Amino acid sequence: MKLLEEKIRQDGTAVNEHILKVDSFINHQVDPALMQEMGREIADHFRNRGITKVATIESSGISPALMTALSLEVPMVILKKQPSKILNQDLYQTVVTSFTKETNYELTLSKKYITSEDHVLLVDDFLANGEAATAAIRLIRMSHATIAGLGVLIEKSFQPGHEKLKGQGIEVYALARIGKMGENYIEFWE
Ligand code: 5GP
Repeated sequence: MKLLEEKIRQDGTAVNEHILKVDSFINHQVDPALMQEMGREIADHFRNRGITKVATIESSGISPALMTALSLEVPMVILKKQPSKILNQDLYQTVVTSFTKETNYELTLSKKYITSEDHVLLVDDFLANGEAATAAIRLIRMSHATIAGLGVLIEKSFQPGHEKLKGQGIEVYALARIGKMGENYIEFWE
């Protein structure tokens, strides 16, 4: 998506070869018009596939997921992060390894909001190592729902997330794919 690539070039900062900061329009301050455009683009890619819910991981995935859900006219479900394991039979739970924070956390989903009747599109801001998405898919599959795919705003294609998800039979659609980056440059893949 050219609009997003231009915005990343203009306002994004590659902190180093691995981390891209997009705090001014995605992660801290949010550009609502751009977010709506991006949500519509992800929704258009997966439209007419019988999607019943859009799911995301709190908190950075909420803006793109909400806009995608709005465009698909389905509810959005937030997979919630919990600091430690809580025992609750109304919840599905799984552990995630955080790429940015280098810690583990528990991801939870209420059994009420995703069921075996659902066909779920997962949406997130970034795809890096694919740990968060893999855990989210594991959690959604506990409910016996089916997965339509993963839509992300930015894929760092030099990291293994895309291949990892493809290996699990998950279609990945990314609006911007970064092949390489460093202090003063960002290279996109077509
Ligand atoms: P993964 O599990 O794919 O390694 O990482 C996914 C999560 O880590 C994303 O949801 C995102 O919140 C965060 N993340 C990974 N790489 C980056 C990055 O380069 N910049 C930012 N801002 N967040 C990232």
